[in-house]
Amino acid sequence: MNNRRRIAIIGAGVAGMALAILATKQGFQVSLYERDSGVSSFGGGVTLWPNAVFVLQQMEVEKEIKRIGGEPRFIRQFDQNGIRQGVLDIEAVNMLSGFPSVTILRRDLMCTLARALDDLGVEMHFDCSMTAQDIDGLKQRFDLVVGADGRMNSVVRQTLYAEKVSPCYQGFINIIGISQLEAAVLDNAIHDFRGAGERFGIVPVRAGLCFWAGAWTAPLDRERSLSAWYAEMHRRFLDWPDPVQSVLNSYDKASLSRIFVHDLDPLPRWHQDNVLVIGDAAHASLPTSGQGACQALEDAWHLARILAGQSELDKVLTEFYRQRIAKVSAAQSVGRQLAQSIFGDHSETQPSVSGISVEQLSQFWMQGLAIE
Ligand SMILES: Cc1cc2nc3c(=O)[nH]c(=O)nc-3n(C[C@H](O)[C@H](O)[C@H](O)COP(=O)(O)OP(=O)(O)OC[C@H]3O[C@@H](n4cnc5c(N)ncnc54)[C@H](O)[C@@H]3O)c2cc1C
Repeated sequence: MNNRRRIAIIGAGVAGMALAILATKQGFQVSLYERDSGVSSFGGGVTLWPNAVFVLQQMEVEKEIKRIGGEPRFIRQFDQNGIRQGVLDIEAVNMLSGFPSVTILRRDLMCTLARALDDLGVEMHFDCSMTAQDIDGLKQRFDLVVGADGRMNSVVRQTLYAEKVSPCYQGFINIIGISQLEAAVLDNAIHDFRGAGERFGIVPVRAGLCFWAGAWTAPLDRERSLSAWYAEMHRRFLDWPDPVQSVLNSYDKASLSRIFVHDLDPLPRWHQDNVLVIGDAAHASLPTSGQGACQALEDAWHLARILAGQSELDKVLTEFYRQRIAKVSAAQSVGRQLAQSIFGDHSETQPSVSGISVEQLSQFWMQGLAIE
């Protein structure tokens, strides 16, 4: 596609902002539409594994991300009594991958991407909740319309399918938050505590700041009040080890969210005519994959690169699906398998992080990311 062509992106999340940065750098004219009144500060944090940091380096924001994020050295896995079950050497994975792993608060990641967009002079339109009718209009005015409008109610995804595409509830909830701890409590390691049908993960960022998620098997009950869910979390994890008690005693109340965890079944196609979906709208995976934001960033990098190298739009969009479907489906499948072992059939032995080789992990994450 000719580099002066125009791209409309719907959704200023990780995928939408990353694509806006990379496509603008390639010379495309980009307009970004977001339904909220500003860049989202929702959520706790994300772990950006080496594949994500590779993309952030291409976007020239890697240094800033490393400055404001943390670089944990290990994942330590425990049972609910604090008995060590396994360890993953993150530094060894980083070394093999050639890029670091960075933990970051979601609001800091979003602000960094928004600043990069501002520096590039990208048109950002807030308070624009796009409808199917608006998308029809954009299709006429732009060469390409990209839906990066998230997992639950993607309007753009729905315009591609006659039947309703419904995300699947996977039978567990996450309560997420941000806490301030003595740095020594976590010793720069991600802590992953698991019981039968329950999990509590704590991720250090910097200077004692951490984000965390408490998860358990639960019915999809939207009527129940948030305070009832939060009270249940305190009851459930009351006897869990000290780091869990420390975060539960020190969280910022405004940072709490309750999420009924959904993902998508793999979709047979992501485009029609000049409309495409990327990120969670195309292939949402469970948080147990640890790859949602990382794969959203990879989508942006692959798409910008294919667009720059190929002039026929239909070939671009077909090639994008061909290059991406295997890896994102693998991430979805890994997320479901781990979720099933924790929140599903409790008789199954839960996999230990020590059972994954650092070589396999780095090969999987870095697959498809070479620069020619
Ligand atoms: C608890 C939890 C923990 C996670 N931890 C990790 C992790 O450690 N590592 C990782 O890689 N991933 C993680 N993820 C997943 C990750 O957060 C998502 O996969 C990622 O944010 C997807 O980005 P996206 O841009 O596709 O969608 P989103 O970030 O959801 O962005 C979609 C945007 O579109 C906007 N929008 C929606 N509809 C419209 C409309 N009609 N018009 C205009 N705008 C619209 C929304 O307001 C939003 O800004 C986690 C997810 C959860 C729930």
